[in-house]
Amino acid sequence: MTASSPVDSFESLGLSAQTLQALREKGFEKPTSIQKACIPLVLHQHVDVVGQAQTGTGKTAAFGLPIIETVKPERRQIQALILTPTRELALQVADEITSLCGSMKLDIATLYGGQSIGLQIQKLRRGVHIAVGTPGRIQDLIDRGNLDLSHLEYVVLDEADEMLNMGFIEDIENILQHTPAEKRMLLFSATMPRPILNLAKRYMSTYEHVVAEQTQK
Ligand code: ADP
Ligand code: MG
Repeated sequence: MTASSPVDSFESLGLSAQTLQALREKGFEKPTSIQKACIPLVLHQHVDVVGQAQTGTGKTAAFGLPIIETVKPERRQIQALILTPTRELALQVADEITSLCGSMKLDIATLYGGQSIGLQIQKLRRGVHIAVGTPGRIQDLIDRGNLDLSHLEYVVLDEADEMLNMGFIEDIENILQHTPAEKRMLLFSATMPRPILNLAKRYMSTYEHVVAEQTQK
């Protein structure tokens, strides 16, 4: 495959004109390895994905772009839930997804500890399309009856190995009990320790395991 091959372009991944425009504005010229592998699997084959790739390889867009292509802006319900190990990552993921949306306006709630839960609840009551946050606060909001996950199309576990290291596996399993059976689940991790693979096996009926090659983007 040469660098100019059409498979090496965002156009060939079946993304909408609006998303392609947002990618141009963001200055993304071609998809990274994990994006090339992941986006068609999620978007067109509708399978669950376990994606293994180092930090800085563009995993956010690998799950963010299929989410953006699927979420219906006219439905003010949480259609995608993204779990991250830290508030910094939650904010980064929300920013990256916002910029990938281009002219499509989606509301994203960032939910993490150390910020007023009241403000987060107010935001959720106004209706959001995507929720990004840390497992502890998300579990808390579920327990209080403030987080309706019954309309989810996607659950993403981002940096799953870090969430394992931080002791979040139990919270994650509790949260997954509150999600509908019919959804896509995407799990991303730089490494695949046994407890993470076990989690994937327990909660994903069948999935594709994508290991990104170690190339520059
Ligand atoms: P990871 O989650 O794998 O650590 P990120 O999703 O945070 O990686 O992406 C790392 C950086 O690379 C970000 O600044 C992001 O905007 C940029 N990036 C992602 N995909 C591309 C691409 N296809 N072309 C250029 N830059 C990209
Ligand atoms: Mg990341």
